[in-house]
Amino acid sequence: MFEKILIANRGEIALRIQRACRELGIKTVVVHSEADRDAKYVRLADESVCIGPASVRDSYLNMPAIIAAAEVTDAEAIHPGYGFLAESADFAERVEKSGFVFIGPRPETIRLMGDKVTAKKTMIEAKVPVVPGSEGALPDDPDEILRMARDIGYPVIVKATGGGGGRGMRVVFTEGALLTAVATTRAEAEVAFGNPEVYMEKYLENPRHIEIQILADEHGNAIWLGERDCSMQRRHQKIIEEAPAPDIPRKLIERISERAVQACRKLNYRGAGTFEFLYEDGEFYFIEMNTRIQVEHTITEMITGLDLVQEQIRIAAGQKLSLRQRDVMFRGHSIECRINAEDPYNFLPSPGRINQWHTPGGPGVRLDSHVFAGYTVPPYYDSMIAKLITYGETREQAIARMDIALSEMIVEGVHTNIPLHRELMQDEGFKQGGVSIHYLEDKLAKK
Ligand code: ADP
Repeated sequence: MFEKILIANRGEIALRIQRACRELGIKTVVVHSEADRDAKYVRLADESVCIGPASVRDSYLNMPAIIAAAEVTDAEAIHPGYGFLAESADFAERVEKSGFVFIGPRPETIRLMGDKVTAKKTMIEAKVPVVPGSEGALPDDPDEILRMARDIGYPVIVKATGGGGGRGMRVVFTEGALLTAVATTRAEAEVAFGNPEVYMEKYLENPRHIEIQILADEHGNAIWLGERDCSMQRRHQKIIEEAPAPDIPRKLIERISERAVQACRKLNYRGAGTFEFLYEDGEFYFIEMNTRIQVEHTITEMITGLDLVQEQIRIAAGQKLSLRQRDVMFRGHSIECRINAEDPYNFLPSPGRINQWHTPGGPGVRLDSHVFAGYTVPPYYDSMIAKLITYGETREQAIARMDIALSEMIVEGVHTNIPLHRELMQDEGFKQGGVSIHYLEDKLAKK
């Protein structure tokens, strides 16, 4: 096992990784920007290294600075968390070339899955069902593009091959709008992702977002840890997640999860990973794979009793998976609400000093957060300040506990989306379960 790990991230996930390391008896180094100097988790770490000014380009995306920090502190491995460099194949490669272990898949795998076109091709070969569409990047010839869209059938969605974070997508309802949409998405993708390539898919009109968590080691073992329903979204960004997904037959989940695990074996996949699917009319359609730990990994931990970050670390250290598929036990129901420092209805970020911070508790309540009273939410980064997670024997109990926990939580000094979460816990559609990815936007539009 490693003696020292460097955490190349910030906020709640930096703290989450630190806790996992502590439990495994591993020392931690946390890197931080000048803006995060006073964060509590930075002080809690065994060592900390300032890697640059607030701007992410100069700090959390600054590969040479992060690798230099690992060198001066004698860390053996680097955990990238999520976001920032977590899915950068170049970073993983540089980490390994510098003699450190990257806690994640091999650089080739990250590259293959990070390109949505090659990811989809790989899934087709592995017999994982995908959304029907252009079997590759769109050609330059406009007539050919129009012909492809006609074959797929409108509406279609034009997506950037290198896209991520809900960006680089455009829905097209009519033939007249297609070529402009392709041109605009290409131009945007070039600027945002440095890659103008786009592809096209059937736009599913009422799907749910269901994803499968997997773990795979270097010895050819791979297991699945069930699904998460992340359909409660705004602008393609997840707000609430739950596990298991309401009203999907277990047989279907098992079948698609087995496919995902087989794809991992075929890929020689290493580490934690998530297969994201759209689910409509009883069918799963692969959209992308995330080759990292996800924000919402917590709810899988709650219903399986596993620690996914520790599993990632053990796998990176070359250990075998600690359990086989038949040892995985699912129990109860878990919900996560992402608490963001933002206006609950117009979603404008609300950075600033948090004057009051009272956190909820009680049975089945977990709060993953780096925040404390007196903490200042910097304006430079993601607005998520906490993840509130509840567990219940039943879905009803998990919802009731979430509603109570939200009512106990007091945050003053910045706006948060707690009022929206409270409203959703009382919402008839949510209570019934199984809403589509458009539910929240439709509800907000009606207001
Ligand atoms: P990203 O990498 O940016 O997260 P994804 O491919 O995972 O992009 O898509 C993000 C979200 O966009 C999905 O959760 C879904 O809400 C919507 N989406 C993507 N592809 C389709 C599609 N073919 N039909 C309908 N909605 C889609």
